Amino acid sequence: MTGASTADRAGRPIRVGLDVGGTKIDAVAVDPSGAIRGRLRRPTGWGDDAVVESIVTAVKALAEENGFPLADVGSVGIGIPGLVDAETGRVDHAVNLGVESLDLAVRAELALGVPFRVENDVKAAALGAAVLSGVAGSMAYLNLGTGVAAGIVIDGRIWRGARGTAGEVGHLSVDPRGRLCGCGQYGCVETFCGGGALAKAWGRPGTLPIRDIFDAADAGDPHAVSLRDDLHHGAAAAVRVLVLSADVERVVIGGGLTALGDRLENGLRAALHAGAEASPFMRSLRLDERIELLPAGSPAAAFGAALVGASTTEKEIVPHG
Ligand SMILES: [Zn+2]
Repeated sequence: MTGASTADRAGRPIRVGLDVGGTKIDAVAVDPSGAIRGRLRRPTGWGDDAVVESIVTAVKALAEENGFPLADVGSVGIGIPGLVDAETGRVDHAVNLGVESLDLAVRAELALGVPFRVENDVKAAALGAAVLSGVAGSMAYLNLGTGVAAGIVIDGRIWRGARGTAGEVGHLSVDPRGRLCGCGQYGCVETFCGGGALAKAWGRPGTLPIRDIFDAADAGDPHAVSLRDDLHHGAAAAVRVLVLSADVERVVIGGGLTALGDRLENGLRAALHAGAEASPFMRSLRLDERIELLPAGSPAAAFGAALVGASTTEKEIVPHG
């Protein structure tokens, strides 16, 4: 598990974690025992200033609603989409937040006088999911949302790789003749099981397009059946690459598409099972037994951010003035 910095937390027992998404911030306060003492959701602002402001407001509201003074907050961790420099706390290309380049940790620290650390949202969620799922050793967190990405946690630490790309399985091309991906390649895993790509391929209006696809598939619509198959097979491909490359003990699945619950889980299990049928080697990996879905409304992402906020590693010590 990630170690807490005693220096940062001396006399300030609360660790705050924020999962900053395109529409809302999920915030939790974690007490010294590791229990979540309070949680709230607030809307996210658009653009640099509004994002910083909504983060500051969320921390203040969390303290107020849960009856602890701001002076009790020893650290704040933020999980946010985009390219994150975990050492400096800078965020680039968070397009869903209207952020091109933002010194988030520096600006938030100035506003609140509390040390901030920033991490990519999927990597932070991976850490939270690892702890909440009680998986020891190695695990991967596969986020199936608008896009697809994974985070790998080994012995309680996020494994970034040399340049932070570890776990970017969404852009593994598994079918060079497949659909064009936003990244410029064809047939990426994300074009099969990303909510955005599936909604685009479905092409019909509706606020819950993936649910619509499943409902239409249940009713026998052949286009919907094929897209539903794509989703299950794409997610299965992601699970396979995570286990075959990192041999993670467990793949925990989160993200917006997990709202499909059993419909997703059963289909994914069936796809993993079918994919392994002809291969004694793949059967021996028991992939279908190594997946689990995060429960709906799980605080894993915000909780993971709180762990990131309180963490210091030899390589990543950031001085807070
Ligand atoms: Zn791609």
